[in-house]
Amino acid sequence: MNGESIDTSFVRDDKLMLRARGIAKTFVLHTQGGQSIPALPGVDLDVSRGECVALVGPSGAGKSTLLRCLYGNYLASAGSIQLRDDTCEQRYLSITGASAHDIMRVRRDVIGYVSQFLRVIPRVSTLDIVAEPLIARGVEVDAARARAGEWLARLNVPERLWQLAPATFSGGEQQRVNIARGLIAEHPVLLLDEPTASLDATNRHIVSEIIVEARKRGAAIVGIFHDEATREQVATRRLELEPVETPAFA
Ligand code: ADP
Ligand code: MG
Repeated sequence: MNGESIDTSFVRDDKLMLRARGIAKTFVLHTQGGQSIPALPGVDLDVSRGECVALVGPSGAGKSTLLRCLYGNYLASAGSIQLRDDTCEQRYLSITGASAHDIMRVRRDVIGYVSQFLRVIPRVSTLDIVAEPLIARGVEVDAARARAGEWLARLNVPERLWQLAPATFSGGEQQRVNIARGLIAEHPVLLLDEPTASLDATNRHIVSEIIVEARKRGAAIVGIFHDEATREQVATRRLELEPVETPAFA
């Protein structure tokens, strides 16, 4: 712990789920002469149960980068990220200092993530892709598949597609499979990267309803939402991000 004092906020405040302080990220392009690309300047964020924070800002502002840092996909260049984890004595896990094993555990139990695009796993059926997060928690396979079917039906993914791998699906179908997989396990913390970007109005509305339901059951949500109407519907608060100023090339 390097003599750092333990933050007891997670003990005192039962609603606090995620705390980020001074999150900065600079990408270093080793294949291009070590050029540095500053993507996040140092972001502070607290998210409590029942909140949905919309990240707002132009393309390139670092919204997706922030979500990836929160999920532990990218290691932040500076700052700290704490995630509620009641299995730890101090009630939080430090994402920025966690072992791969701990990251995998909190991804199973605490923090869910819907990426902008589905990572297709060859030859695995849609039903099994969606059921997997429940199976990882020890839910029996048939029960997990039944639940996956309910999610896919609600998201209008036609039943004739459920036994197929989603590689050949349309962008909108893949996105709905991705949303079903990301929400099925009802994680207490959810990170959503443009979940409605390639959906038609009907499905966008269904996804908005699902996000509001998740919030009302107490999920703490951080999301990037494609359009203002969706933001209005789902978000309780917004956080503005701006592209980091880079010196002009000489
Ligand atoms: P947003 O989601 O707000 O559109 P991003 O987080 O995707 O923005 O990107 C922020 C900045 O970081 C951009 O300049 C982008 O080019 C850069 N960036 C994002 N990911 C990487 C990466 N893996 N390697 C290098 N640069 C990246
Ligand atoms: Mg993005």
